[in-house]
Amino acid sequence: MEQGKRHIAILGSTGSIGTQALDVVRQHRELFEVELLTANNSADKLIAQALEFDANSVVICNEELYGQVADALQPEGIKVFAGMKSVCDLVAADNIDMVLTSMVGFSGLASTVAAIKAGKAIALANKETLVAAGSLVTTLAAKHEVPILPVDSEHSAIFQCLQGAGGNKLSKIHLTASGGPFRTWERERIAVARAADALKHPNWNMGAKITIDSATMMNKGLEVIEARWLFGVEPKDINVVVHPESIIHSMVEFADGAVIAQMGWPDMREPIQYALAYPSRLDLDNRKLDFATLSKLSFEQPDLDRFPCLSLAFEAISRGGNIPCAMNAANEAANAAYLKGKISFYEIADVIERAMARTPFIAAPDLDDIFATNDETYSRTNAEIWR
Ligand code: MG
Repeated sequence: MEQGKRHIAILGSTGSIGTQALDVVRQHRELFEVELLTANNSADKLIAQALEFDANSVVICNEELYGQVADALQPEGIKVFAGMKSVCDLVAADNIDMVLTSMVGFSGLASTVAAIKAGKAIALANKETLVAAGSLVTTLAAKHEVPILPVDSEHSAIFQCLQGAGGNKLSKIHLTASGGPFRTWERERIAVARAADALKHPNWNMGAKITIDSATMMNKGLEVIEARWLFGVEPKDINVVVHPESIIHSMVEFADGAVIAQMGWPDMREPIQYALAYPSRLDLDNRKLDFATLSKLSFEQPDLDRFPCLSLAFEAISRGGNIPCAMNAANEAANAAYLKGKISFYEIADVIERAMARTPFIAAPDLDDIFATNDETYSRTNAEIWR
């Protein structure tokens, strides 16, 4: 990527990653030009962001809210569009160099593919894109010579560690996990835990979907698959280690046994700035590590009995094809149902396992197969949950 001012699009700008990305931009207005902001439903927040950052264009995906956004922004000379289709069209515009994909879930795939085809650098926060279509997306990015810069803290950590690798191949990834809000709970207590309990995440400030995924450890499962595609490692060479302090954000190991770790206080703005400004590092008003008061870093094995979703993710990636896509779709349906109190904690894993078992296997799915697998699995899973 060329140096100088970077012209960015933020897809999902009103969510947790989007707002933290704009906080990074706010501290470095001289480096970034905000070209495009998109949101699903948060019209008021989108309007405020577009005015503050003088965006060129915005998209409100919920078309019913178009009038409200257009009335507020068009008089200011900001172009306003509605609907998901507009996102796919606008990410390809000439005024954009980099697209931060911070939408939630599978819904981010179409616009990510559109941005890659248009040759835009991708700052990837939407991990479900790689879970559902990792082979297709990474192949497409290579074909268009588009960098995929990870925003997920663990993958940013691995990417940062690899800057010191001097071209040596890594032999293992140690993917750290906080263990989530139920790490120390007995299985019986987890079984009756409600979404409100899960939403009290100890370390990271995140959106609701990922916080539930963190409680089930499906988030770590999704990240294993994400790492597999971003770094070309076999699943057997990805070791998940629970590290409750969330200070080490992940590690890479080399053939000689040397391990390089990336550390920092848990704050998503650090990996966001690294992706947005890569290869530069920016001043950030975040909390810095103080090793004198950091009394210990601890590590433990993940408990697959209490957190079965992690095993399901390893099973999905080892089966390959369209199975990770089916797993992801079932998880999106189950996660939302758990948030609404419709199913219990361990029903999430049961629902996903059944969905994976009944998915007709496609070994080398194309993009149409991926969309079909997602849609069919999502609606069948919802029908099962809400019947
Ligand atoms: Mg993460």
